[in-house]
Amino acid sequence: MKNSSNQPFDAIIIGGSYSGLSAAMALGRSLRKVLILDSGNPCNAQTPFSHNFITQDGKKPAEISKTALEQALKYETVTFLQQKATEAKKTDFGFEIKTETEIFSSKKIILATGIRDLFPDIKGFKECWGISVIHCPYCHGYEFRNQKTAILANGEKGFHLAGLVRNLSQDLMLLTNGKAEFPEEQISDLKKKNISIVEEKITEIVHREGNLSEIIFADGTSLPMNVLYAPPAFEQHSDIAAQLNCEYTETGHIKTDSFQKTSVDGVFACGDNSSPMRSIAHSVYTGSVSGSMLNLQLVQENF
Ligand SMILES: Cc1cc2nc3c(=O)[nH]c(=O)nc-3n(C[C@H](O)[C@H](O)[C@H](O)COP(=O)(O)OP(=O)(O)OC[C@H]3O[C@@H](n4cnc5c(N)ncnc54)[C@H](O)[C@@H]3O)c2cc1C
Repeated sequence: MKNSSNQPFDAIIIGGSYSGLSAAMALGRSLRKVLILDSGNPCNAQTPFSHNFITQDGKKPAEISKTALEQALKYETVTFLQQKATEAKKTDFGFEIKTETEIFSSKKIILATGIRDLFPDIKGFKECWGISVIHCPYCHGYEFRNQKTAILANGEKGFHLAGLVRNLSQDLMLLTNGKAEFPEEQISDLKKKNISIVEEKITEIVHREGNLSEIIFADGTSLPMNVLYAPPAFEQHSDIAAQLNCEYTETGHIKTDSFQKTSVDGVFACGDNSSPMRSIAHSVYTGSVSGSMLNLQLVQENF
């Protein structure tokens, strides 16, 4: 293992996608010595086109992050390594981060590690993810407007999504994949809007190269469909926040204040790992806030 910890950084950013690169830009523009470590696995890798981020609408996700990396690396104090951070600990100096091959040290840390979606056990779900099985009406709903639409969700989440999605398509149904859990008044509201509820278990999503055509149920019946909204469960992409003893919220996000500070002094978090507002715009915003607040902390400690 190569020990590079004798050349400490002002900040190590773990995760070099939208939120991490945005933090790097704020720090590079403040002349801070920054290392970005990235394992190269952003959550939106499978989606063909990204939407709803101004100036980049309709671009491929990788094209947006490639431009972001090029722009962040124009600042000569910013370094990028394609390495996965595996261990983190607090030291007298600040922090020590290990990858599989190297050890680094820094005064501060930014966690920009994202989340990992946990797919339900439905054949075809994974292959359609981000293409015709989508998580967000703002990101991909417009492209499927007025088409045959289903929502795979139950309870409050399902009812909330039904309201949002009905504005994009009135050919809409709710698939609860088990017993429906709506109060009477919500069932009556859904009926009034012609949104039917199907409780039968889903066994398969029939598709061609991720574009779904049919949903098949356990009782052998099927429904033709163009798009399925399905917000899946998730877990943190990295356990580094847990290793550093950062607190989590009830929803499983890293707890931060409005300046993106975590519960551990000197550790900031940004992007999907610390917010349910899952979008590139929001990740870029929180990344920028964490970079500038980390810089402010260094200024206050040394001025
Ligand atoms: C299918 C899909 C489609 C989407 N479409 C849109 C859209 O059209 N418009 C939109 O605005 N938003 C969209 N989103 C949401 C958007 O992609 C996310 O909000 C955004 O990617 C979050 O950015 P992030 O930097 O927090 O995390 P990510 O982009 O997920 O990146 C996290 C990075 O951290 C790295 N990492 C994790 N752990 C470690 C570690 N231990 N060491 C080193 N690196 C590590 C990962 O490899 C990854 O590169 C979509 C999301 C999904 C899932």
